[in-house]
Amino acid sequence: LVSARNLRKEFHGQPVLDGVDFDVASGEVSVIIGKSGSGKSTLLRVIAGLEAPEDGDVTIDAKLTLSGGTRTADWSHGAAMVGMVFQSYTLWPHMNVLDNLVLAPRKVLGLSAGEARERAEAALDEVGMAHHITSRCTQLSGGERQRVAIARALMMRPRVLLCDEITSALDPPVAAEVLGVLARLKQEDGLAVVLVTHDMAFASKAADRVVFFSHGRIAVDATPDEAFHHCEDPELKAFVDAVR
Ligand code: ATP
Ligand code: MG
Repeated sequence: LVSARNLRKEFHGQPVLDGVDFDVASGEVSVIIGKSGSGKSTLLRVIAGLEAPEDGDVTIDAKLTLSGGTRTADWSHGAAMVGMVFQSYTLWPHMNVLDNLVLAPRKVLGLSAGEARERAEAALDEVGMAHHITSRCTQLSGGERQRVAIARALMMRPRVLLCDEITSALDPPVAAEVLGVLARLKQEDGLAVVLVTHDMAFASKAADRVVFFSHGRIAVDATPDEAFHHCEDPELKAFVDAVR
């Protein structure tokens, strides 16, 4: 579904993505782990189109969207398939849940109020938040906000959801609930999920693969069992021991 080749990105002359190849298949949960500063967020931001790489190709839905780091004519076709959710709550606090959800699809897709509301109801239903459609975002708990943030990403009907440490600010049981939503979306809708997380329990249980980032490169790309129990990579071993 998504195929990134030889992605390169520098900040202040330092390579942050140092020739990254990364593929996402439909209905697959990939968990990205790695030390702070290793380039995990940058990879997601480049795939989501929020950051321009210096070099590299990206193919989404069999169409080349980035070539040599430059957007192609098929760029927006690919971008429409990718949704992103961030660590800190990015909902508009002064708006209620419904207004947060319908804002982008009404503007970008030109949906009518009725169509947008229908879509919002379905999206909130998917994350178990339908009863909060008229709630103010400031009145929601952290876990509820993140579920609304997922619903908002679903409004654009993406095929891939990129999630950057979306549960880092949550208590473990609340985090598990939010991650459970992602696992269900994969199961029921075939959504591909790419998740940057320190949650090794989720990674072992729900990931189809674990990608270990080190110094702007993918050092290990393996099943959770291989990555956590049979991997010889000393850096990964040290990392896993440190976060456990
Ligand atoms: P963390 O686990 O702390 O979130 P990360 O693996 O997500 O780390 P990135 O956010 O991708 O790491 O950052 C990789 C490197 O790039 C860091 O050294 C960071 O300081 C640098 N960097 C990221 N974004 C920018 C930017 N917009 N301007 C300058 N440097 C940046
Ligand atoms: Mg990050």
